[in-house]
Amino acid sequence: MDFNKNFSNVSESYLFAEVANRVSKYTKSNPDKKVIKLGIGDVTLPLVPAVIKAMHGAVDDMSAKETFKGYGPYEGYDFLRESIRDYYKSNGVELDLDEIFVSDGAKSDLGNILDIFSDKNTVLVPDPVYPVYVDTNLMAGRKIIFADANGDNGFLPMPDYSVNADIIYICSPNNPTGAAYTKAQLKEWVDYANKKNAVILYDAAYECFVSDGDLVRSVFQIEGAKTCAIEFCSFSKIAGFTGTRCGYTVVPKALEKDALSANKLWLRRQSTKFNGVPYIVQKGAAAVFTAQGMKEIKENLAYYMDNAKLIASCMDDLGVWYTGGKNSPYIWLKCPNGMGSWEFFDYLLNNAQVVGTPGEGFGKNGEGYFRLTAFGSREATKEAVERIKKLLKK
Ligand code: PLP
Repeated sequence: MDFNKNFSNVSESYLFAEVANRVSKYTKSNPDKKVIKLGIGDVTLPLVPAVIKAMHGAVDDMSAKETFKGYGPYEGYDFLRESIRDYYKSNGVELDLDEIFVSDGAKSDLGNILDIFSDKNTVLVPDPVYPVYVDTNLMAGRKIIFADANGDNGFLPMPDYSVNADIIYICSPNNPTGAAYTKAQLKEWVDYANKKNAVILYDAAYECFVSDGDLVRSVFQIEGAKTCAIEFCSFSKIAGFTGTRCGYTVVPKALEKDALSANKLWLRRQSTKFNGVPYIVQKGAAAVFTAQGMKEIKENLAYYMDNAKLIASCMDDLGVWYTGGKNSPYIWLKCPNGMGSWEFFDYLLNNAQVVGTPGEGFGKNGEGYFRLTAFGSREATKEAVERIKKLLKK
């Protein structure tokens, strides 16, 4: 037997381990200092009452012979897929039910979708980036090329027709940069993908934070996207399902090549390797789209976005350059005084006891940048902002 040697090309995911290591070292030698963590990408508010109520009801269903559920449909229960279809409709996107696939989260689907594509494809990934896109392709031995995201393009790289790519990753609003493409910019990507016969793997995990009118919640709001894009979405950020696990992927039937249909291939893949998401979880997810669920969820999202505003306005006051914070819970800032990512990490930890994430950990173009997140508590965010202001206003 031989192992998959491609794994040796995947670098150790040392970023969050190194952050934890440096924080733990600091707290050990400074036990009296209160450290505030604004580095986490995980949510902190609990599931909303409408979701909990629906999940309790589903547990009761499982207790009675008449309502008990065994294996569910591979693609998810219709009650949830119909709610997702209606959600898209509210954004002006018409989908057929069989274009929607429920899963245990966007991360799994982003990795698993690669099963339907040849290993010979060239992959275009922005740098900096959510590391899953790079690592899953390295594991399969695909050639990866990078699109430079940087201060000059506002961390929103645009297509370059001299570059030939087959699989293109777009995450908007973006993790880690918080930057979001406008409709016009996405149209350029869709045109490029259609022209090049490429597919866009569109990560919409942060669509719920979009507020600006010239942005979209779904790539399918862009004309032409159904022939070139697959969209991944998640209940993790919209509804705090990071630990509950549920997401969905939209694979349009119009996405075809050489008489093969992406939709059919994905159904075949899922029905072979996946046995569906728990009924109880899907009931909870469906409650997100009810009027009561949406009302409660919007309060949670507003809470996070008010945190984001606090951080963003602190950067405005200090004259620090940043992206995000408006249509995203992430604030991606340029480290002041020309500091490197890890240098600024240590400076902030040692002098303000605030923890963020060094941009370098997301790709080479992240060097000199730093990510703060709005997922902390209001109190902690306020205090962190005060400390940062005091430290940098010199
Ligand atoms: N996509 C992006 C860009 C993310 O930042 C995350 C999680 O942080 C995910 C996908 C994962 O989503 P899920 O929890 O549904 O697996």
